Amino acid sequence: MSFADSEFTYVKEVFCSVQGEGPYVGIRQAFVRFSGCNLSCEYCDTDFASSDVCNYEKVEGSSIFEKIPNPVSTEKLEAMLHPFKKLHSISLTGGEPLLHADFIKNLDLSFPLYLESNMTLPEQAKKIYEKVTFVAGDFKLPEAILGFCPETSETHVENTIHVENTIECFKLLRKNSSRDCFCKIVVGRNTKFEIVMLAAEAVADYVSCIILQPETPVGSAARTQQPGQAYIQKMLKLQKSLLELADTRIIPQTHRMWGCL
Ligand code: SF4
Repeated sequence: MSFADSEFTYVKEVFCSVQGEGPYVGIRQAFVRFSGCNLSCEYCDTDFASSDVCNYEKVEGSSIFEKIPNPVSTEKLEAMLHPFKKLHSISLTGGEPLLHADFIKNLDLSFPLYLESNMTLPEQAKKIYEKVTFVAGDFKLPEAILGFCPETSETHVENTIHVENTIECFKLLRKNSSRDCFCKIVVGRNTKFEIVMLAAEAVADYVSCIILQPETPVGSAARTQQPGQAYIQKMLKLQKSLLELADTRIIPQTHRMWGCL
């Protein structure tokens, strides 16, 4: 399915809020949540299915959403973002925003672009290489992508390709004098220490820091599940080892704590 062309695309939501993850937590951003994703992560709780309308919260925090017909044109999206002032940047998120690279390339916006990506589509990344100022790149570990067998640690061919593509994407969108790029790795209770180390080693030269993000409990688990001492110790041990490679921080998802979008 094609989600985008250079003039029109499917957008799920547009709103203004604060960044809830990573080293830029708390900054004021407009968010463009694009439809569609090329992955199927085990812990995914994002509704990215495309629909006939885009939900547009014009007044920040109001919970009043206008229904804008999809697909949305570049001009329409620019106009929708226009009321949002005093922004640090505009977050392009999803789903997977790189599926919409042709569309993003044609956007004319007055704030820097902050790409939140699963980093598995290097050919798409090439199209907007010079357009983004901030890259919040995930390194999706094989265990996170459905199809990986945790018992045997077997990685399907498809997952090996995802890992190669991820490294290629970080290389392409690497930090430089005009762009920041950092890597976020979601670490669950069963995540293998060595796999995180290998992932971090592969991208350390391309990023300003590595973010270890504790897995956020969802649904009923959110009310009952405490992190546990073993998990906390594991995270701290991981951080200590990764600090040999790069600035490494442990930052949970903060927007979930106060119910913000
Ligand atoms: S990459 Fe993100 S949006 Fe896509 S399936 Fe994984 S967690 Fe969900």
